[in-house]
Amino acid sequence: MKYYSTNGKSDQVTLRDAVVKGLASDKGLFMPEVIKHLPESFFEEIQNLSFQEIAYKVADAFFGEDVPSDTLKQIVCDTLNFDCPVVKVKDNIYSLELFHGPTLAFKDVGARFMARLLGYFIQQEGNQKVNVLVATSGDTGSAVANGFLGVDGIHVYVLYPKGKVSAIQECQFTTLGQNITALEVDGVFDDCQALVKNAFMDADLNKHMKLTSANSINVARFLPQAFYYFYAYAQMKKLGKADQLVVCVPSGNFGNITAGLFGKEMGLPIKRFIAANNANDIFYNYLQTGEYHPQSSVQTIANAMDVGDPSNFARIFDLYKGCHSAISSEISGATYTDEQIAETVKACYRETGYLLDPHGACGYRALQENLTANECGVFLETAHPAKFKSTVESIVEDEVEIPAKLAAFMKGSKKSIEISKNFADFKAYLMNE
Ligand SMILES: *Cc1c(COP(=O)(O)O)cnc(C)c1O
Repeated sequence: MKYYSTNGKSDQVTLRDAVVKGLASDKGLFMPEVIKHLPESFFEEIQNLSFQEIAYKVADAFFGEDVPSDTLKQIVCDTLNFDCPVVKVKDNIYSLELFHGPTLAFKDVGARFMARLLGYFIQQEGNQKVNVLVATSGDTGSAVANGFLGVDGIHVYVLYPKGKVSAIQECQFTTLGQNITALEVDGVFDDCQALVKNAFMDADLNKHMKLTSANSINVARFLPQAFYYFYAYAQMKKLGKADQLVVCVPSGNFGNITAGLFGKEMGLPIKRFIAANNANDIFYNYLQTGEYHPQSSVQTIANAMDVGDPSNFARIFDLYKGCHSAISSEISGATYTDEQIAETVKACYRETGYLLDPHGACGYRALQENLTANECGVFLETAHPAKFKSTVESIVEDEVEIPAKLAAFMKGSKKSIEISKNFADFKAYLMNE
């Protein structure tokens, strides 16, 4: 299948090029040329299929022309070695728990899939080693590092700002070893990002080593997120709750919700979507006014959604051909302050015993406020509350247990290489690799 750019100023590319390049040469985002409709029979029996079987059907619709079926099946199975269960929180509100993967956040799904697909393409090309550079402010680094851990032919360099990520986040990419190198940059996140960007543009470096990015807008990270929308529907159907299904997605860069919208284009019977925002309300305002005004992001307790110019807005805009009424009839919005998020975590815990993380709390609250009497809602619980331990503990005034998987990272010993924020030093380091 071919992929076109949302900016429409560059040529269509193959899946392989879209995955290796990440971003189109006109700086647009790649879109698949067609979004295939899945047959009625698939939706009739979906509740009898396993997560992996469902995901393979979806993967086949996007990648089946470019990847042999055995390989694709293997990639899907290796990616989804954990469950994404739907859990009842209260009447008509269910949580789709996306935090059962290695780093306890939904980004594991896309990162693991992309690592394996890239691994396949590298093998096809005769195993020339590929180096993935990723700058992180915390969560992306862990999902990417763990997604690529042990994948043949790929080395990952995670650049993170020294002293600016939480201890839990840091150990998720500094204790892994193998094909993962953590570079501790004496600077802020923007310095890390600048180092990565400069590396991609440096002729000597690109001659010396093959470089690629594992950016979250990469189609191989973005499209697999559709898998769990289908699986959530299957689980709700089994419960007899899928007739008027509303799906609510805590959103930052809007990749996750866009994958759900793709699912609906493929025939998934979701009635409507809600995009739940924190105080960063750019998309919410777009829905109300039809005008999109990017802003600088404000810091909140749901920090993975602190985005002032959501990159996947371009994909949503393209999907609905820029039609505001089409977009706002498919998606409604919600926006919450930190006080409201905290209040929601607290009230839900008290009333139901279910512990939300600050991101999921936005989703839960939006369903509570928006569902009509005959609708049933699923919100995406995008991360485990223990990832935000101190915030959540101070809200619920109770101890949050750290899952064994997370605790295991904290036992490993930290290995990182300290570098300055000067590109010359970073370049010299890589030229010696
Ligand atoms: C990345 C992230 C989000 C936002 O997802 P988008 O696809 O960027 O909208 C929400 N919650 C958590 C926990 C995240 O890590």
